[in-house]
Amino acid sequence: MGKKQQVKCAFCGRPANMSEVLIPSALDETYICAECVDQIHEMLKDYRHEESEKNSENIDLNSIPKPKEINDFLNQYVIGQDDAKKYLSVAVYNHYKRLAQGKDDDVDIEKSNIIIVGPTGTGKTLLAKTIARYLNVPFTIVDATVLTEAGYVGEDIESLLTRLLQVADYNVEQAEKGIVFIDEIDKIARKGDNPSITRDVSGEGVQQGLLKLLEGSVVNVPPQGGRKHPEQKMIQVNTKNILFICGGAFDGIERKIAQRLNTHVVGYSTDAKRQNIQRDNFLQYVSPQDLKSFGLIPEIIGRLPILTHLNPLNRADLRRILTEPNNAIIRQYKKLFDMDNVALSFTDDALDLIVDKAIEYKLGARGLRSIVESIMIDAMYDVPSSNVKEFEVTKDYAMTKLIAANFETIAKQND
Ligand code: ADP
Repeated sequence: MGKKQQVKCAFCGRPANMSEVLIPSALDETYICAECVDQIHEMLKDYRHEESEKNSENIDLNSIPKPKEINDFLNQYVIGQDDAKKYLSVAVYNHYKRLAQGKDDDVDIEKSNIIIVGPTGTGKTLLAKTIARYLNVPFTIVDATVLTEAGYVGEDIESLLTRLLQVADYNVEQAEKGIVFIDEIDKIARKGDNPSITRDVSGEGVQQGLLKLLEGSVVNVPPQGGRKHPEQKMIQVNTKNILFICGGAFDGIERKIAQRLNTHVVGYSTDAKRQNIQRDNFLQYVSPQDLKSFGLIPEIIGRLPILTHLNPLNRADLRRILTEPNNAIIRQYKKLFDMDNVALSFTDDALDLIVDKAIEYKLGARGLRSIVESIMIDAMYDVPSSNVKEFEVTKDYAMTKLIAANFETIAKQND
């Protein structure tokens, strides 16, 4: 018998001629067969899965950030919106407590999905994004407007979770602890308060579909998104521990609130300034009933137990947004110049001008960036190839650049 024939797997004893391949040890003349490697691989997978399930069941309450800590973190990025920050911080904290709860506990803490009502551009997405960054869990933003009921043109409701799976690198366990921000939830409101007899493609049917995701169930997610088709292999995702944060502008909801409060929004459509003040006043009283009047079905509202609102941003808020948050626009431009060893500064009245223009053209916080970009484009083009070491943006400079960039005309077109 040749030496070769005596070689066998040190784990199962399989001889070389019965194995696909024998892999030698680096230390001595022992071998392991491919079949054992496969088997060990499977065992390890099961082991790791069980361990991570055990770990996720035993979240240590002491290691969970307290609501105040979450709020402090949000303050570094989001200006104002104190009510929403408080609600979000508590909801996330409770969500963790829920995850930490033992299986055989007799009090079942319910999921704390959130709905944020607020004018566009006031920080809904920013809040959700910032929370996700802090928690270090997979996070995705999806737009409710692309969804339709199964069978219609558009995307299946389950595809909401495709993006979450993608950002979690298809790690289902990670995705199952993620946060999904559903933007423009108001766009799937039923048209009118009465349940309609005819089918409502983009409204009630979608809300019904959304229900099962919100309440927590195992759903089949198409890995590539879009429409499900028979050949596609689905990934099963349990939404029980996925936190859903919904946001929407709910344009006109203040009228419903006013009606409920048995008052009128004075001069609603005539006086723009007053309209703002009234909207500000009314949104803070938003209640689940108003969402129902707006066209959300009661079941959905029930699955979004935490309702909070955002305030419109005033001049002072915009001014702070420009410079205060950790990644404030002005800080970003300073950083860009700093990388060319140029000290960039803005005079106070230049900053005031930027805010004035954002208000004048009704661009809100989103517009601040495009205004600053228009002002800075020439300097960003010229300065790197010059000997300039300091660059100050004054009000006059900013004004000249905005005029040269035809900003007024562009902003008006966007109006
Ligand atoms: P929406 O409420 O429509 O989701 P976003 O959160 O996307 O609005 O806000 C748009 C942009 O405006 C953000 O990326 C951010 O730069 C700025 N912004 C809006 N609100 C705030 C805020 N409260 N604090 C700081 N920046 C804000």
